[in-house]
Amino acid sequence: MKFQDLKTLEEKLNLMSELAVNFRSRAAYHPEAAGQFPFDNISDLKESGYTSLTVPVRFGGEDISLYEMVRLQERLAEGDGSTALSIGWHLGILKNLGEKKLWDEELFEKICYEAKNGALINGAATEPGTGSPTRGGLPQTTAVKTGNHWVVNGRKTFTTMAPVLDYFIVSAAAEPCGETGNFLIPRKSEGLRIEETWDSIAMSETGSHDLVLENVMVADDCFVEVFTPGKKGANGWLLHIPACYLGIAAAACDYAVRFAKEYSPNSIKGSIIELPAVRQKIGEMEFELMRARHFLYSVAKKWDTSAEKERAQMAPELGAAKMAVTNGAIKVVDSAMRVVGARSLSGKNPLQKYYRDVRAGLHNPPMDDSTIELLAKQADSRT
Ligand SMILES: Cc1cc2nc3c(=O)[nH]c(=O)nc-3n(C[C@H](O)[C@H](O)[C@H](O)COP(=O)(O)OP(=O)(O)OC[C@H]3O[C@@H](n4cnc5c(N)ncnc54)[C@H](O)[C@@H]3O)c2cc1C
Repeated sequence: MKFQDLKTLEEKLNLMSELAVNFRSRAAYHPEAAGQFPFDNISDLKESGYTSLTVPVRFGGEDISLYEMVRLQERLAEGDGSTALSIGWHLGILKNLGEKKLWDEELFEKICYEAKNGALINGAATEPGTGSPTRGGLPQTTAVKTGNHWVVNGRKTFTTMAPVLDYFIVSAAAEPCGETGNFLIPRKSEGLRIEETWDSIAMSETGSHDLVLENVMVADDCFVEVFTPGKKGANGWLLHIPACYLGIAAAACDYAVRFAKEYSPNSIKGSIIELPAVRQKIGEMEFELMRARHFLYSVAKKWDTSAEKERAQMAPELGAAKMAVTNGAIKVVDSAMRVVGARSLSGKNPLQKYYRDVRAGLHNPPMDDSTIELLAKQADSRT
């Protein structure tokens, strides 16, 4: 069964649930077994047609809405967070490019055609020297114009899905024009290599290794986009990030509730789910999940139904949704661990993995302090 054969979101969610159950069964929870890139999950997602769902209709795709994308991404993350974050970048980037028409249409059509045949793409924007690119640091990666080509040199960190990417969107300072922009670089390019540096204890299966570029020759038309560092505007597609951490939190909550129903120490009659202190935490988790879903879904729907001009004003709301959901997700996983008790710290227990994974949301864009500043600015400008 392919996603493309299904008409309703409900049907698509059901198919995603089936995939997610399978992905959960493949997950390695023990920290010592962590870090294996989920090749099988990615290949199943390609097979199911999922990885091309955000290709625009004008290029023969489904062009699912942002709301549909976050719902599906959340469900996927319930099965495996690393798989969800990885594919989320790819789906979101295609969606963003399709909506904003940032690239030459002919080139983008070619990428969409390849995406429909399983090609994967992601941005490589972070560098050791700049930290988060959202802060406005200039890339130290350079692209020097030589005849009809650009020669790109540099090192990118945190390149999620590096083991399977077909295309890297690499930010670089272009010389001699002095512009900063993105270069579309195919994996097979000479001088491009992956250094397997990813040793994070959170989202360890994302394969977010270093991308090293040494005298990589890039065709002229692959200088796809010019931008001002730190000024990328409102980006609805980044809601794939909170959707991912929400899915992880939902999985943690479900695990804790199932545990509470089954665990029956001999100090009590029945199971711990009947204890007031446990019910309190379960109610609080449900509250956090409900609040996070309403916030995330309503902002996604607002994006879907807004014109370009309104969307451009949505950065504070998008940031607030991300901040509320990722912090809420951390709280949910914390409560789930309190319900389960010390067993949650066992290497075999999924909760300790959810706990590690959910923290990564704090370090995906936009960061909380930037959102708070944006909200302060909004309040400021109102009075
Ligand atoms: C799981 C995961 C997957 C990722 N995938 C990708 C990917 O596919 N592609 C990609 O390009 N990147 C990716 N990233 C990188 C991510 O977008 C960030 O660039 C990275 O996490 C570094 O963020 P940081 O806030 O820790 O870094 P830094 O910006 O170095 O910040 C470190 C600390 O310094 C402070 N700080 C630094 N500069 C400033 C400033 N100017 N103003 C205020 N405070 C400042 C921050 O608040 C923070 O406390 C990924 C990250 C993670 C965790």
